[in-house]
Amino acid sequence: MRPSKGNLIIVSGFSGAGKGTIMKRLVEKYPDSYALSVSATSRSPRPGEEEGREYFFKTKEEFEKMIADDDLLEHACYVGNYYGTPKKYVFDKMEAGIDVILEIEIQGAMQVKKMYPDSLLMFVSTPDAQTLRERLSGRGTETEEVIKNRLCRACEEAMGVENYDYLVINDDLETAVESVHAIAQNERFRIRNNIQFIDNIKNELKSFKEEK
Ligand code: ADP
Ligand code: 5GP
Repeated sequence: MRPSKGNLIIVSGFSGAGKGTIMKRLVEKYPDSYALSVSATSRSPRPGEEEGREYFFKTKEEFEKMIADDDLLEHACYVGNYYGTPKKYVFDKMEAGIDVILEIEIQGAMQVKKMYPDSLLMFVSTPDAQTLRERLSGRGTETEEVIKNRLCRACEEAMGVENYDYLVINDDLETAVESVHAIAQNERFRIRNNIQFIDNIKNELKSFKEEK
């Protein structure tokens, strides 16, 4: 069973839409509000990426052992590499009452939604497809062939956007960051996320009735 204190927030979106950039800025601005899950992957590190910060970089064999040991909450294959979410960190943070963000692709997102239907799902897009291509090329981290594969994958992923709860268009970065924050904070007001408070006030009010 998953502990049910902090919320589980899933952020997906086309490669190059700006998910990583938004998440980095979000935790810079609101460090106490969110824990960003660090995934494991079998892809190679990009220049500037650090072990344990962007990802835990694994060989294919190491990744398959994590699957066999049931260490992952979800995992998927994306454009030729494994990606997955280590379970323990996510559950520990949620147990501590902190909202945990999983920045994952759509297959993994659907696995988590099936297991935990009360997860909050956001999808990040650029304002249009041309901007996506420009951002992906402009990032300068992938070969032309990988960019093509990722744009193909974006076309497939676009078919699944209706399975998400909210759409965030990343045009102006600060606006997108504030949108993500507003959606996540809104979730805290849901009745189902305040059951403890409601039970307490019900009990307190009962004592008024008994005084009568
Ligand atoms: P993702 O994590 O979704 O693959 P990134 O966060 O790596 O995407 O962003 C892709 C590229 O777009 C990066 O070079 C980043 O600096 C740039 N970028 C992100 N958000 C914006 C924005 N709002 N306006 C302009 N460029 C952006
Ligand atoms: P990138 O190689 O650009 O860092 O990530 C490629 C894709 O994998 C992105 O859509 C990203 O959201 C996704 N991704 C990153 N970590 C995970 C994970 O743990 N699980 C799944 N399913 N997807 C992930």
